[in-house]
This record gives sequence, C-alpha cells and structure tokens, in this order.
Amino acid sequence: MSRILIAEDEQRIASFVDKGLRANGYSTVIVADGDAALATAITGDFDLVVLDLGLPRRDGFDVLRGMRKANVLTPVIILTARDSLRDTVAGLEGGADDYMTKPFRFEELLARVRLRLRTGDRTPELTVLNHGDLSLDLRTRRVTTKQSTEDLTAREFALLELFLRHPGQVLTREQILSHVWGYDFDPGSNVVDVYVRTLRRKIGAEHIETVRGMGYRLS
Ligand code: CA
Repeated sequence: MSRILIAEDEQRIASFVDKGLRANGYSTVIVADGDAALATAITGDFDLVVLDLGLPRRDGFDVLRGMRKANVLTPVIILTARDSLRDTVAGLEGGADDYMTKPFRFEELLARVRLRLRTGDRTPELTVLNHGDLSLDLRTRRVTTKQSTEDLTAREFALLELFLRHPGQVLTREQILSHVWGYDFDPGSNVVDVYVRTLRRKIGAEHIETVRGMGYRLS
C-alpha cells in the first residue's frame, strides 16, 4: 500500500484530502506545520508527499529544499492558494513534481497522485496535450498555437486542459465551473464567460465555439 504524507495546516483541507486518499486505498499521515513536515518527510518512509506551501514555522518551499538537500527524492505535489505562475514555477524549480491550486476537486488531486506513483512502469507520461494547432504543455502550463506561445494563469490553464481532454464535446457552464473552480463556486457567476474570453484572446477566438443555450466547445 502506498504511503502518503499530507502536510497541510488547514484542518478542513487536510481531512478532505485524507478521507479521499484513504477511501482510495492509500495509507496517510497528516502533519500541520513545516518543521514536522520536513522531519517526517526525510524519514524516507513515504511514497509521495502532498505539501501545502503556506505552512506555519517553515513554508512549503523550505520543506521541499530541505528534503532535496537531504537527498530525499520522494515525489511532491504542492498545494497552493497562491494563484500565480511565479510561485508555481519556483516550486517546480525547487524540486516539486506537480502542483494543485486551491480550491481543487478531489478527483484532480487523485489523478495527479496516481500519475506520480506510477513511476515504476515504463508508460511515457503524457505531458503535452495536442489538438489541431493547439499544444498545451502540462508542466510549464504554456500553450503554443501557430501564432505564439503564451503563459496561462492557473485558471486559464485548467480551463484549456478541460477543453483539450474533451475535444469536440459541448461543456456546460456548470460542468466547467465544477471542474475548474471546484468546491468553492457560485453557480450564478459569469466567471466562465470571462475566462473563456481571456483564453480566446490568448489562443485565438476560433478555437472555442459558443454553443448557444448550452455552453462551449473546443473546435
Ligand atoms: Ca496553509
């Protein structure tokens, strides 16, 4: 059974992650501050660490650096409330394997956990999603089109990833909200339309079709 260390000081989120992972057959340990996270992680007893960046005493970056300095190469998935590309890239450069921006749906985390634990088998990891002339790099979160390469914000990225995983399929606003905005969304909000607009500006309007009365579709 894979053992997962959860370093998260917000109890609500720690128990949300913990319950979900246990229900999926993982064994878990929760720690709530950075000192405990580092001390526990460097025992090397874990197959994966889910690491919140904003931890008391020692932040997640520091925990990650400490682990890598001690040659503990356990895969790390960062949890971050900081919805910005700069922190994320810093995290990846500091030796994290992946990250999730809060709020997130448990299924998204589970997919990333499974991906990270699958290091033993030789299946090449899918790191780029392609459709027509669109190409989305899942690690750098950059999109390339015939015209340009653009950095995406965390939400724009999640939105485009969703479209690329369901090419040609109509996605309703509700589906998009629950996938991209997770457990914290207001169903009456027009945030989906706003983000579709900014995404169209970056990748070209022709890529995302409006299906009147239904939603949007990657064309
Ligand atoms: Ca926190």
